[in-house]
Amino acid sequence: MFLVDSRPIPSGLDLNQRAGPGAARSVCWSATRDEHCSSARPKYPKSMPRIADILTQASGPTLSVEFFPPKTPVGDANLQQTIEDLRAVPLSFVSVTYGAGGSTRDRTRDLVVDINEHESYPAMAHLTCIGHTKPELEALLDDYDRAGVHNILALAGDPPADGSPADGDFTYALELVELVRARGDHFSVSVAAHPELHPRSQDTKGDRLHLAQKLSVADFGITQFFFSAPDYFRMVDELSALGCDTPILPGIMPLTNPEGVRRMAKMSGATVPEDLAVRVEGAGSADEAQAIAVEAALELSQELLNGGAPGLHLYGLNKSEIVLRLVDQLNLL
Ligand code: FAD
Repeated sequence: MFLVDSRPIPSGLDLNQRAGPGAARSVCWSATRDEHCSSARPKYPKSMPRIADILTQASGPTLSVEFFPPKTPVGDANLQQTIEDLRAVPLSFVSVTYGAGGSTRDRTRDLVVDINEHESYPAMAHLTCIGHTKPELEALLDDYDRAGVHNILALAGDPPADGSPADGDFTYALELVELVRARGDHFSVSVAAHPELHPRSQDTKGDRLHLAQKLSVADFGITQFFFSAPDYFRMVDELSALGCDTPILPGIMPLTNPEGVRRMAKMSGATVPEDLAVRVEGAGSADEAQAIAVEAALELSQELLNGGAPGLHLYGLNKSEIVLRLVDQLNLL
C-alpha cells in the first residue's frame, strides 16, 4: 500500500527545533512550512537504529505504521496530531511513502529526517527506482546517509500508466536493493511483497522466484494489504520452499472505506472481501462501520500473529484512531 501526492516543495529542516524524542516542534516537512524552515539541516544527525536489528532483537511482534507525506495544511496538521497520538503506542518504526519518479522526494525526505530526529523510533524512507537514473538514486542515498537515515524500503515503483516506456536506469527493485547494499552494512533494506502475487506477474512460480531472489538480499519484507491470512502463509511457505526465510511483515489495512480500498486494490492486485465491504457500507452509523472494520482487522491480525507473523505493519492513512483501537484490542500496549 502506498499513498502519495504529487506536489514537490523545497527540502530543509529547522535546526533550531531539534530536541529529544517526543519534543514539540514546528512542522518542517509540511506543504505549508515557513521559509525559515529550509535554512539548515542538522549537522550531526542523530544516529537511528537499523530496523533489521530491531526485528532481530525484538522479544515479541513488532508494530509499525505507514505514513504518506501530506499535501495540504489540513493534512499536515492531521499527521502532526497522529504522530503525537501514537506516542502512546510502542511503535517499532514507521515508514514514509515516496511518489514514484520523485514527486514527493523532498517531503518524504524531510518527514523521515524529522521523525528520526524527534521520535523515539526510526522512520524508514520508501524509495522507488523506476524513472530515476543511477546517479540520482546515489545522490538521494548520499543525502539520507548524511542525514542519519539508514532504513530504506527499496521499491521498483510503477511504470507510466499510459503504457509508455519508463525512464531511468533500473527496472526492478532488486537493482535498487543492490545499490543500497553496496553502500555498506549501516543501511537496513526492506522490500515489498505481494501475497496474492504482484499484479504484473504472469504466473505464481515466476513471481515467487523473483520475490525470493529480492528477499534473499534484503533484511525483511513488508506486504501489500490483503484480507485473508492463508494468502500470507501460503506465500511464506512457497518462499520457504525456495530456501528463502527472510521475515515478512504483513500489511494490515482496516476496511473502513470500502470504495477507496477497492480503488487501491485494483492497482495492487489485492482481493477485497465483498461480504465485509457490504457490511461496512450497510452500517447504520460511521461508528458502527468503523467497529465492523476494526473487528475484521483485529481477527486478521490475531490470526497472523498466532501463525507466527513477526509483526504487523498498519496502513492507518495518517490517522491514529484505528491504529490505537487495534493496538488496544490486540493487547500490544
Ligand atoms: P519488483 O520487485 O521489481 O517487481 C515488479 C514486478 O516485476 C513483479 O511482477 C516481479 O515478479 C517482476 N520481476 C521482478 N524481477 C524480475 C526480473 N528479473 N525479470 C522479470 N520480472 C521481474 N510505490 C510507490 O510508488 N511508492 C511507494 O512509497 C510505495 N510503497 C509501497 C510499499 C509496500 C509495502 C508495497 C507492497 C508496495 C509499495 N509501492 C509503492 C508499490 C510498488 O512500487 C509497486 O507494487 C510496483 O509495481 C512494484 O514494486 P516492487 O518493488 O514490488 O517491484
